[in-house]
Order: sequence, then structure tokens, then C-alpha cells
Amino acid sequence: MSIVVENLTKKYGEQKAVNDISFEIKTGEVVGFLGPNGAGKSTTMKIITCFMAPTSGDVRLDNESIHTHPEEIKKKIGYLPENNPLYLDMPIVEYLRFTAEVQGVPKNLIPGRISDMIDRCGLDREKHKNINELSKGYRQRVGLAQAMIHDPEVLVLDEPTTGLDPNQIVEIRKLIKDLGKEKTVILSSHILSEVEATCDRILIINRGRIVADGTSDTLRSQAQGQELLKINIEAAPDAVEAAVRGLATVEKISAVDGKEGWFNVQSKPDSSSRKEIFDLCVKNKWYLMEMTGLETRLEDVFQKLTK
Ligand code: ADP
Ligand code: MG
Repeated sequence: MSIVVENLTKKYGEQKAVNDISFEIKTGEVVGFLGPNGAGKSTTMKIITCFMAPTSGDVRLDNESIHTHPEEIKKKIGYLPENNPLYLDMPIVEYLRFTAEVQGVPKNLIPGRISDMIDRCGLDREKHKNINELSKGYRQRVGLAQAMIHDPEVLVLDEPTTGLDPNQIVEIRKLIKDLGKEKTVILSSHILSEVEATCDRILIINRGRIVADGTSDTLRSQAQGQELLKINIEAAPDAVEAAVRGLATVEKISAVDGKEGWFNVQSKPDSSSRKEIFDLCVKNKWYLMEMTGLETRLEDVFQKLTK
């Protein structure tokens, strides 16, 4: 089930919440929309799931457009909206029966689908409870169960782990990863480690636009560019700093606060200072205690792109 988003724009009054975005998602991909609050993630998801019409642009699922085939598309997509709205005074099983009927699951298949979902989402021990008796983590499982009740090919999950405690987050992530083995999944989050842990591909969204698209590794290496080293040299710090600064390959050196003898060194574009630093220490009879490359953190990439 491929998804093609083409020049999608959504305006609220004068504000463009989604501003001319285009991308394609292939069958089986698990894609994360990553962006700060207000970036346009939920708006994009509401349009893809046919809960809202765009101002302009199109979304197609296997060549069916949201403009001409909304009912067909809704049947193929499972949607967990932001804040997971549930009917709190319903027992889980009743609620799932209700959503199955709304989704048009044939009557004779409904009991089987419900027990599959209870199984799959780990709800067995709680299944006779009312939703308002459940913890937040279990409510989120019910939200996932209702999204999947009609066995859709695509799952759209808007901030699926918001408000969960760390143990619940781990469990829900594991469930999403499992689901990703057989379905196309789009999930949103404003937390980087979340998309990194669950997604094959990350779209960074900021102010209604896509500002980056790739795996966490490609995003990191795109941003990397210049070598960053952390070094520890046992010698007079001022002499070390001056000498390293004088190397032809070095762009910048700064002392690490509160750690004598430690420095961060940034090399000039497309060059490395590792050998030069080593040779410098040999020449001056300084002890080079440590030299490590610093990886660009994905946090830095994200902050730079969404400032
Ligand atoms: P995200 O999910 O990334 O936090 P949203 O898609 O919810 O972002 O919102 C994008 C922008 O559109 C925000 O600036 C938000 O205030 C605005 N917005 C969202 N829904 C509405 C609405 N119903 N009316 C007016 N503005 C809205
Ligand atoms: Mg949102």
C-alpha cells in the first residue's frame, strides 16, 4: 500500500499549517513524522486519514485519491488520533465491537477480530473492565486495538506514546515495531529518541514544511561534514591549545569546561587532524592520553533544522 502525498497545503485562515509538502511512502515502511509542537504533523495525518480536507493538493493510496475515494481509503487505514479519544464508560469488548461495526467488519467476523486484537494488544487480563478503569498505557492499547480492528494495511498513529510512563513507552514501542513488520506505519512524535527507536525513516517537519527526509544515519551523516575530536593531553594546557590551534587542519579548539587538559577540536571541512595532533605530541614529548571522534548527535541535527 504505497502513499503519495502531493503538494499538500492546509490553511487555517491566513496561517499555512501545512505548506506545500510532497513525499512518498512505500509499502511496509515505518515512517516517523518528527517535529516540534505546531509543526503540522497532526494536520497532515488528519488529511491522510480523510478526517479533514486539504486546502489544496492530493493524497493517494494505491492510486485512489482522498478527493474521490475517501470511504475506500478510510477502510484501508487505521487511525489513532492525538489524545486517543475513547468512550470511557464502555467496557473494552463492547467498545471494540462498536468500532468494528462502524468500520463495516462483517458481523460473523467481529468476535474473531475482537479476540485477535485483545490478544495482539495484550488486553486479556483487563478485557472485562470499563475503559475508564484502565491505566493510560492500557487505554493506549485499546486505542491501537480500535485502529487495527478492521485489519487495515496502513496505520497512522498520532503521538502514540504521549503521557505514558517509561515502562509503558517501551511496551507500546515494541508493539508498534511488531506491527511494522506487516503494515505500513506512519507515526508522529516530538521526541527524537522515539522515532529513532521505532522508524526506518524520519521526516522532520517544521512550520508546515519537510526540512529533512532519511534514515537516522543519513540525517546524521548529512549534518556531520566536519570532524569533531575530543582530546586529552598531559602538558601545559596553554601551550597545547596554542600549538593545536596552529595546525593547518584545525579550524577551532576550545578547552572543555572544568576538565584540565581536555579540548574539543573541530577540523576544517574535508580534513582530519588526528595524525597532526599525534605528531605534535610526539614532537613536544607530550602524553596523548585520549583522542576520540565525537558523533554528531541527532538532537543537534533536529535542533538546527527546527530552530
Ligand atoms: P502538530 O501536530 O505538529 O503539533 P498541528 O498540525 O496540530 O501541529 O498544528 C499545526 C498548526 O496549525 C499550529 O500552529 C496550530 O495552532 C494550527 N492549528 C491546528 N488546528 C487548528 C484549527 N482547528 N484551527 C486553527 N489553527 C489550527
Ligand atoms: Mg499534533
